[in-house]
Amino acid sequence: MNSPFNPPTTTLIEAIKTVVGDGGWKAPNDAARYFSDPRDRFTGAACLVALPRTTAQVSEILRLCSGAGAAVIPYGGGTGVVAGQLSIDSDQAVILSLERMNKVRSIAPEDGVMIAEAGCILEDIHNTAQQHGMMFPLGMASQGSCTIGGNLATNAGGIQVVRHGNARDLCLGIEAVLANGDVIEDLEPLRKDNTGYNLRHLLIGSEGTLGIITAATLIVKPVDPETVTALCAINTPADALRLYHRLARSLGNSISGLELMSDFGIGLVSGHFPNLTLPFANRTPWYLLVEASGRTGLRDDVEQALAGCMEDDLLTDAVLAESEGQRANLWALRENTPEANRLTGAICSSDTSVAISKVEAFIDAASAAVKQVHPDLRINSYGHIGDGNIHHNVFPPEGMEKPAFIAANPGVIDAVRNAISEATVQCGGSISAEHGIGRLKTDDLQHYASAAKMEAMRAIKRALDPKGILNPGAVLK
Ligand SMILES: Cc1cc2nc3c(=O)[nH]c(=O)nc-3n(C[C@H](O)[C@H](O)[C@H](O)COP(=O)(O)OP(=O)(O)OC[C@H]3O[C@@H](n4cnc5c(N)ncnc54)[C@H](O)[C@@H]3O)c2cc1C
Repeated sequence: MNSPFNPPTTTLIEAIKTVVGDGGWKAPNDAARYFSDPRDRFTGAACLVALPRTTAQVSEILRLCSGAGAAVIPYGGGTGVVAGQLSIDSDQAVILSLERMNKVRSIAPEDGVMIAEAGCILEDIHNTAQQHGMMFPLGMASQGSCTIGGNLATNAGGIQVVRHGNARDLCLGIEAVLANGDVIEDLEPLRKDNTGYNLRHLLIGSEGTLGIITAATLIVKPVDPETVTALCAINTPADALRLYHRLARSLGNSISGLELMSDFGIGLVSGHFPNLTLPFANRTPWYLLVEASGRTGLRDDVEQALAGCMEDDLLTDAVLAESEGQRANLWALRENTPEANRLTGAICSSDTSVAISKVEAFIDAASAAVKQVHPDLRINSYGHIGDGNIHHNVFPPEGMEKPAFIAANPGVIDAVRNAISEATVQCGGSISAEHGIGRLKTDDLQHYASAAKMEAMRAIKRALDPKGILNPGAVLK
């Protein structure tokens, strides 16, 4: 591999090893898991994987790397899907994994906050909150592996945004190390603080290009006494939105999950995971998974609201989970969709958001654009419809394997990606709703963002990371 960075000297590597001590680093030949991509599209590399235990160690590593002009790539759980955590252009970067900074420093239900280190696995944060009768309402299929540092660095979304917002909305404070090793400590649990520029919001969503998040003050909320989960059989995405608006009028803001799935997509999930099947006798083109959480007695309201929607032909059938096991089964249909897509051989997985009212127009436009690239491509559109966030996964024609199809159709992946991006922009949408830019979408950002926005972003990067050592090649080329 060629390297655009200063290759670290042996002296630098040894100095980093001394900072983290025995067991605090891995050589490249012992670090394969840091080089793989959840969708098998990219392969990374590194000259060293450093595993600091403290913010002081992170600071010292950055001070050393900054002095040497060596590249550092922050790494959380490695579940990012836009290659932000992978050094795919160089084997000379230092990967800095936060996995050993995985302590919950404190939880204060009376303030509604928890202070967690960046390497805490999201699911562990859920469990800790639950032990105190609280919840941290950020959820996604990768929650058993992704870290809160990665969630904040990507401003992750997921399945509860419709009620609780994305990672940014659930964070009150941040501790981070800047490129030169300076530490920003801003962990006070304040709901209001207008003292100058908000560096927390700058760092959230910056994908490790402006600083390394080492800890965060997270908002935790009391657990809702009742959660009701229903799967509705529907005919069109527009029906899903009509259903959502009707339910929202009856149930207020208790709707906490709203996931659109296609019959084609459910078929892929059942094909790869035969124990996961639909609870309906008849199939419909689309399904809407609805979850509502709130006060005791909510279930009766949900049942009544759904019955009214059925009378008005907004849905053709509905099943309410009667137990935690049934609820888990309904969610498993949705949560196994990304893996079913991967196993089926998706050649493209998009992450679009449009205004909620434009979801159906976007699905139609993007599907038509993909079919123009190749009429036999298959499409699974699904996602967080309550946020206007649709993932479009595209597969080779029935009966064709991914490698053979790509070999026979050179350029097809880029053509599909561009077709979906164009449809997105024509619908006034965003080419990255929740996954970020990483290394996958730098050209797209450059292409679609205004010159003024790009220059402002470059100026911020120059100011905070003048030597460009933090995650070079991610977000900005
Ligand atoms: C099956 C599956 C389902 C998913 N579902 C969703 C979903 O519903 N919603 C959603 O938003 N995403 C989803 N994702 C994507 C992914 O899980 C999120 O982007 C997640 O936030 C990444 O966290 P991570 O700890 O794995 O970060 P990584 O993949 O390790 O890193 C992601 C980016 O953050 C940077 N980074 C990591 N840690 C830090 C840190 N401490 N400080 C600064 N920068 C850092 C990295 O350099 C990289 O640029 C899914 C992924 C998979 C595989």
